Amino acid sequence: MKALFINPPVYDFSAFDLWSKPYGFLFIVDLFCKNGWEISFFDFMDRNHKFYDDKDKREKKYGCGNYYYKVLEKPAIYKEIPRRYKRFGLPQDIFFEFLENTGKIDVILITCAMTYWYPGVIEVIENCRNFTDAPVIIGGGYPTFCYEHAKKIGADIIFQGGDIRYFVEIFNAQTKHNLMYFDNLEPCWSVYEKLSYIVVRTSYGCPFSCYYCGAKKMHPEYRLRDQDEIVREVSRTVEKYRFDDIAFYDDALLCSFTHLQKVVKKITEIKKFNFHTPNGIHPRFINKDVAFFLKESNFKT
Ligand code: SF4
Repeated sequence: MKALFINPPVYDFSAFDLWSKPYGFLFIVDLFCKNGWEISFFDFMDRNHKFYDDKDKREKKYGCGNYYYKVLEKPAIYKEIPRRYKRFGLPQDIFFEFLENTGKIDVILITCAMTYWYPGVIEVIENCRNFTDAPVIIGGGYPTFCYEHAKKIGADIIFQGGDIRYFVEIFNAQTKHNLMYFDNLEPCWSVYEKLSYIVVRTSYGCPFSCYYCGAKKMHPEYRLRDQDEIVREVSRTVEKYRFDDIAFYDDALLCSFTHLQKVVKKITEIKKFNFHTPNGIHPRFINKDVAFFLKESNFKT
């Protein structure tokens, strides 16, 4: 059995690779690997793809940088916005070539982080339909927050939230397959040829319940991850790829500071990394001790 995983292109006014990787999606890749499936993986937003070799990547600090883009005609809803609307990511012909060489596919999985990035999902679904009639599953932030909309764009299965046990349940119920759940899932970084950084979570969810926030829809419970599991994840990945930067994707990174402290100390024993907090941190948890720890541990941004 073969599963094709796709991180689609981004349709937006601006996009920048600020440690952007489909972290949760990589756990689903591992789920299929552990079930013995063959994996094909295509990330339109991979700036380490050989397509960029002869491009001016305008690499910025800490592994970040610009994406290749094409300017598009603005959709009617955006016509009053005085900005250029773009499609960011690898061109479609690279994807077509990839599909032609992929062989028979049994299931297609597509992720989409932001709700308004769905045009990228539509592009991918339409292109896949010309190559295969394999069922298409979409997951990530877009279908989680816009379920009714996501039902109408041509996918066969819509997965909401971040609970992988639930994913296994609906996958088995809606296909003829019989996936098994595994407790020891990890992000399958090996789908990338090269990495300039990795991202990691020390926790899922948030202990707070701000009414305007969607964190609880993805992860209803606040849960700390096993520290050794996180360290193993980093140490295995750095053995294979050369990178110096790690970005934390936690929603509430400083809420369990002792946990973070222990994790960072153990990771730093592997190698001295630059750490980054692109998902924001709660400033009220920053006191003198926390500030000194972050500075001394090499938190850069
Ligand atoms: S992640 Fe931030 S916004 Fe969301 S519930 Fe927690 S504190 Fe509130």
